[in-house]
Amino acid sequence: MLINLLDFDSAGLTAFFAKHGEKPFRARQVLRWIHRFGQSDFDAMTDIAKSLREKLKAMAVVLAPSIVSDKLSDDGTRKFLFDVGGGNAVEAVFIPEDDRGTLCISTQAGCALDCSFCSTGKQGFNRNLTVAEIIGQLWQANLALGASPSDDRIISNVVLMGMGEPLANFENTVTALRLMLDDNAYGLSRRRVTVSTSGLVPVMDRLGEECPVALAVSLHAPNDKLRDQLVPINQKYPLRELMAACDRYLQKAPRDFVTFEYVMLDGVNDSDIQAHELLALTRNVSCKFNLIPFNPFPGSPYRRSSSPRIRRFAEILLEAGVVTTTRKTRGDDIDAACGQLAGQVLDKTRRTARRKIDLHEVRT
Ligand code: SAH
Ligand code: SF4
Repeated sequence: MLINLLDFDSAGLTAFFAKHGEKPFRARQVLRWIHRFGQSDFDAMTDIAKSLREKLKAMAVVLAPSIVSDKLSDDGTRKFLFDVGGGNAVEAVFIPEDDRGTLCISTQAGCALDCSFCSTGKQGFNRNLTVAEIIGQLWQANLALGASPSDDRIISNVVLMGMGEPLANFENTVTALRLMLDDNAYGLSRRRVTVSTSGLVPVMDRLGEECPVALAVSLHAPNDKLRDQLVPINQKYPLRELMAACDRYLQKAPRDFVTFEYVMLDGVNDSDIQAHELLALTRNVSCKFNLIPFNPFPGSPYRRSSSPRIRRFAEILLEAGVVTTTRKTRGDDIDAACGQLAGQVLDKTRRTARRKIDLHEVRT
């Protein structure tokens, strides 16, 4: 079977080369070809000896998931849908802004954590993405955007806020993160790579130890009673433990704050009292808030809070001196907004029925 070189970070590729009698600097050269120059054709790697190129061709490939749909929103947001085989598709979204370009990528097909307001969660869990499938989204998006992969003028930031829970696919996520940070690959600074988690406390500690990057935590509720309902993993790792884990993470983190994401659900978590409760909860953690207007999806039981309600909620946090931003809803004309990213993944019922799937047709 051919080995996919996109599955390796620098250490992995060096070990693979050593196993085949090749020097570490050769691995570095190939790593640069693949990630800095977006090259998948060994014959085009012109400074590699022909004999090594032939050897690589016989035993390896550079294979990213293929793009099965590529949609551009009126506001410039661009959504890529990737085929990851077996009827599964995952999405990445590119969000251009004046001073940066952010790529939001997925780490799992589906998600097991079943947050009640999230369309990915409602799909159930299909499987973890491989390293090649995670980093392949960045590799492909760079090519599609016409960027040389190592040129961070187009994709300057990466956020792991697409489908899935990154910390539930820890090893593959960390290997992909190492590639994003590697100067021979994408060379992004740790501050410009953000992992978003629903709060897997022990794994947050591991991330802090093994590969600290910027951290966003999906909070969504100011007390355990409500969070138990919205984010069920809270029943295992309640808020007191989560706040302590944030505080520990900050000792390792490249930034001096954690971003708390808070989805605004009409009449559920958006009252003045809840804003004050939130301030009390997070008093001892250096943080910023990012309020996310809820993005509805078919069958969801929630409504988005009104704009004046979101403004008032933000004001209460701001008046207490906490930096608070409200996420612009972008790309919703192409279903690329937060939490809508599961639109075209095959749901479990259909999978069990083993129907033949056309990715373009399957909508839930
Ligand atoms: N699993 C991780 C990362 C992916 S979800 C996490 O939960 O943090 C990325 C963000 O989108 C999370 O903050 C999540 O709570 C939010 N989100 C999920 N569904 C949403 C929806 N329908 N509307 C708005 N935001 C949503
Ligand atoms: Fe999974 Fe995040 Fe969605 Fe929760 S919000 S179900 S953790 S992807």
